[in-house]
Amino acid sequence: MPIRSIKLLIWLVFTGVLFSETLAAEQVDEQAINKKWESFEELSLVDAAGALTKVQQAYAKLPESTSKYERVMAKLAVITIQMRLNQLPDALKNINDTYTLSLETGHHRNTGELLARRGRILLKNQEFNKALLAIDEALAMFERINDKPLIGISYNIRGQILLALGNKAGALDDLLRSYDIVRTENDATKTASALSAIANIYVSNSEYEKAIEYFKLALSYLDHDKQKLFVSIVKGNIGSASIQLNDLDEAKTYLSQAITLTESLGDKVGSASSKLQLARVYKLDNQVYKSIDLYREVLAVFESINDVSNEFVIYTALAQIFSELSNLGMATSYLKKAELNFPEVKVLETKMSFHRIAADIYSQTEDYKKASDSLRKYISFLKEKFKNDHNERFNQLQVQFNTEQKEIRNKLLEQENKYKTEMITQQKAQYKLLYTIVTLIIVFSLVLAFGLIKQVKIKHEFAQLALTDELTKAPNRRAILERADFHIKLASQKKYSLIIGIIDLDDFKVVNDTYGHDAGDEVLKSFYRFTKQAIREPDELGRLGGEEWLLILPNIDLDQLDTLFNRIKKNVSELIIPGIDLPYSVRFSMGVGTVDKENNTTLDNVLKKADIAMYKAKDCGRDCWVV
Ligand code: GH3
Ligand code: MG
Ligand code: MG
Repeated sequence: MPIRSIKLLIWLVFTGVLFSETLAAEQVDEQAINKKWESFEELSLVDAAGALTKVQQAYAKLPESTSKYERVMAKLAVITIQMRLNQLPDALKNINDTYTLSLETGHHRNTGELLARRGRILLKNQEFNKALLAIDEALAMFERINDKPLIGISYNIRGQILLALGNKAGALDDLLRSYDIVRTENDATKTASALSAIANIYVSNSEYEKAIEYFKLALSYLDHDKQKLFVSIVKGNIGSASIQLNDLDEAKTYLSQAITLTESLGDKVGSASSKLQLARVYKLDNQVYKSIDLYREVLAVFESINDVSNEFVIYTALAQIFSELSNLGMATSYLKKAELNFPEVKVLETKMSFHRIAADIYSQTEDYKKASDSLRKYISFLKEKFKNDHNERFNQLQVQFNTEQKEIRNKLLEQENKYKTEMITQQKAQYKLLYTIVTLIIVFSLVLAFGLIKQVKIKHEFAQLALTDELTKAPNRRAILERADFHIKLASQKKYSLIIGIIDLDDFKVVNDTYGHDAGDEVLKSFYRFTKQAIREPDELGRLGGEEWLLILPNIDLDQLDTLFNRIKKNVSELIIPGIDLPYSVRFSMGVGTVDKENNTTLDNVLKKADIAMYKAKDCGRDCWVV
């Protein structure tokens, strides 16, 4: 019984009846002529056959220049009507032919529509895995253009596919999502569709109270005047679910309403389905003859369309009723009719109930062999049912387990990605910090190095200043005396001869007095420069103070000293002194002290000797040297 309601619902989604139930026949022509292809989704079932011819003619007459986009739209109209007419192979072929063309236009809505239709056909063909693939692709297209109504209806279809695959939890997930979307979009029909599909999941789970709750909610979204077909299906479902809850009054009410609606639509088969349920209700309510009448009325309908499985259900039901009424003749005759149809029966529960009833009737007619045969078959089907139930439960657990595993894996991946991103961010921050620190260290080191170099330079300059005579840039008194002391000590160690000379400029006072102090300064500077040029490489010259100088002359004998003295004399005579117009000849006296290689002597001693000798030189008539 729930099987028919699920099938009907799939059919509703499949045919597009959900979108609208009515469209006047005369509008089809006008639409085909005006190429309003998109309106064909709203075509009513009654107009479909004529409409297909008209739309196909319109498609054939499309001029060469027709854009790919419009061609796809026209083909979609053809496909929609073919699906209404259950011309599934033709529709599928058209979908496959148009798919590439639609991809070329880059129009995601049309491509998605084609994929969704492929999914709907495959669902109807019970190719559930392929259907799932198609609807997932369709969903991807619709999500790219964020088309909420199409996303909503696609989740509805996806939910039905998952339900068919036995994944009830997944189906419920998708249908709830569909419900959320279409309700937000204020699409009442699709909201009702999602709700009744959810209700069907509860039916399949034998949770009939919940199912009825959702069916009734679905009813509240439907327009009871314009959506009679849909309303009748939902009411029929409420009636069937009420039978399961043994709420026979409720079942009668809803089934009667469903019957009235289907009859007003001229839908005999639909009405027969509800009447079949109502016959069951009468039987359960002990209104046996009402039940028999109704069963027989419905039987005529199913026999006229050769619906073997429904015929079988009714034969079995009637056989049972007559056996209970102890009319074994009628019971056996219906049983025989049912037996003939038995090979066509697919539903396990129906087969079981047949064998149980058969066993009962055969035992009443005292055909014990057949009775035990039927019982054996009943038991074997019962075993199969247990196995199936067990398998279903197992599959459910497996699906649940897989879903949970996937969720856990996704969460782990998510977490891992989060950690990775965090790590990268952290690493970047660390690198940035490190980079900053390194840069700072380099800058700091450079500043420090430059500072140090500058300091060293300054120190060096200070040291130089401390040892240099400011005016002449010659080594000052301290410096030249240190050098003299150093040489005196070294000479006695290394055994080399050394002469220390003191030079005093003659009549220098006169220079100052005659030409001025500045000119005197220039004479001092020039004297140092030119004397320095006259002495040898290892010789050293420094200013002792005023116009007095100290000469350090290592490894020299007295002959060489005389030559050196004359060389100095030559160099400093006739100097051009700035501020003195005429060439000025610098005159000077030198006294020297020798340092004996063998005997240790001190700087003081040598200086005294040289000083005395210098005064002697002045006495000798100036411009001469004395040892
Ligand atoms: P003598 O021939 O006996 O050595 O006589 P002198 O004039 O050279 O000797 P004295 O000691 O009488 O005079 C030295 C003069 O040198 C006195 C001083 O003003 C001058 N003098 C000392 N230092 C400097 C200086 O740095 N610049 C100048 N222009 N004159 C200086
Ligand atoms: Mg002097
Ligand atoms: Mg002098």
